[in-house]
Amino acid sequence: MSARILDGESFASRLHRETSVRVDKLKSRGITPGLVFIRVGEDPASRAYVSRKEKRAQEAGINSRTLVLPESTLLPALLGEIDTLNADPKVHGILIQSPLPASLPNDLVYARVSPAKDVDGFHPVNFGKLLLGDPTGFLPCTPAGILEILRLGEIPTSGKHAVVVGRGQIVGRPLALLLARKAPGTDCTVTLAHSRTADLPSLTRQADILIGALGRPLFLKKEHVKPGAIVVDVGVNRIPDQANPRGYRLVGDVDFESVKTVAGAITPNPGGVGPMTIALLLSNTVRAAEDLSR
Ligand code: NAP
Repeated sequence: MSARILDGESFASRLHRETSVRVDKLKSRGITPGLVFIRVGEDPASRAYVSRKEKRAQEAGINSRTLVLPESTLLPALLGEIDTLNADPKVHGILIQSPLPASLPNDLVYARVSPAKDVDGFHPVNFGKLLLGDPTGFLPCTPAGILEILRLGEIPTSGKHAVVVGRGQIVGRPLALLLARKAPGTDCTVTLAHSRTADLPSLTRQADILIGALGRPLFLKKEHVKPGAIVVDVGVNRIPDQANPRGYRLVGDVDFESVKTVAGAITPNPGGVGPMTIALLLSNTVRAAEDLSR
């Protein structure tokens, strides 16, 4: 048996087309959605992520640019830049690329972004709205993108057992809350596993829907997977690869080659969750522009 591929690139293209239509509507009213990325320092992975997101935003007709600050930036200077963007009516979305240098406290920085421009969904107000099921908040892009993969892949979720491996703040924790919501496209029974979970394979083998969001290369093998399960691979990990000119290659948290022989459906990696994260970011940005221009 070989699993059905949940093609994130093709799902993301569908969402980008919808986003572009909404951008055109805004432009016909004289409004161009604006998105600013803030990158502090020169982390190579962050540079690559931001330039990819900026390019996709421009393709969708969003006015996007990146504010690059030196690694040595002090907290007051960064907060001052965020305040300026919060007050700029041409800017509808602000994304602070993680990781920030260790000297900058994540919580203070993310909480400074206006909740109305927090298109990454990391502000405590938006996280609180997620918890309350208040649809006026912005959902974090990766968990929201995974829900869209399940929806567009026509995966039944109601009453299914979802096991999320990884309780990180950006993916696992919000995703577990979303999957457990009383709403169409969710309604799962959720287990949230982490590094202290006892006998992880016995839990993952009970999953109808298994999400790998732990940041451990190729960790989930076919022995972790119930035959026919839906498997979503969130991880982005670098492993050494001398055959690659860069000296490394990117792999997920799921051992795709072995797991695809037992799963019912699986996201490729790359080409699964990553493109959907960007699609949801652009959709959130357009929604911010729509909301702020009412
Ligand atoms: P994180 O904050 O570091 O969280 C990792 C989680 O995995 C923690 O809860 C940790 O448990 C758990 N964990 C680690 N080792 C484990 C093990 N052996 N067994 C079970 N659980 C284990 O990471 P994150 O920010 O959520 O990101 C997770 C992965 O997703 C990373 O590879 C990241 O690059 C990727 N990611 C991808 C996208 C995308 O768009 N594709 C977006 C965001 C993140 P403890 O809590 O006990 O430490």
